[in-house]
Amino acid sequence: MLKIKDKEFIPFLTEEEIKRRVQDLGRQISKDYQGKNPLVLGVLNGVFMFFSDLMKETDISLEVSFVKVASYESTGSTGKVNDLIGLVEDIAGRHIIIIEDIVDTGLSMSHLLKLVSSKSPKSIAIVSLLLKPEALEQPIEVDYVGFEIPNKFVVGYGLDYDGEGRNLKEIYQLK
Ligand code: 5GP
Ligand code: MG
Ligand code: MG
Repeated sequence: MLKIKDKEFIPFLTEEEIKRRVQDLGRQISKDYQGKNPLVLGVLNGVFMFFSDLMKETDISLEVSFVKVASYESTGSTGKVNDLIGLVEDIAGRHIIIIEDIVDTGLSMSHLLKLVSSKSPKSIAIVSLLLKPEALEQPIEVDYVGFEIPNKFVVGYGLDYDGEGRNLKEIYQLK
């Protein structure tokens, strides 16, 4: 049992289970992107631990960069505006691999996909360590999924509860 602030969590995925799955994903991505020199885009903050471990399991030429998506209300008639922060590379004509920690409703990924697609990459693939199929509200296709999980809040291995828990090497589920 784990307590963070007011919530109790139970063990869900062990360090070993995560490690084995991350190895599989790294091998698969290496095989699929051999000779393509992809630009791998990590979506901060939650992805930091998965990203690092996954990159160590790849053995091909690739480039690494990180982005954040900022969301704010516009004063005009457009409503919500999403901004891509941190992308300095010219991605036109490049193979892009987006790495996320979790796809829940898919709304964040759907915004990110729009922003990345508008810069004319050659291809875009999505990798997510976790996917909650029951929570998905957007028609997002995740190309590489670590684990399909139930629609329950999880924490650890990069994922936070109210800012805490990102440093845990296992993943816990809300009790
Ligand atoms: P979306 O609903 O747009 O797919 O996910 C939005 C964001 O909510 C994710 O990037 C992640 O930061 C957060 N999120 C969704 N589900 C969980 C969860 O189970 N645990 C944690 N810690 N964050 C989550
Ligand atoms: Mg994330
Ligand atoms: Mg969070």
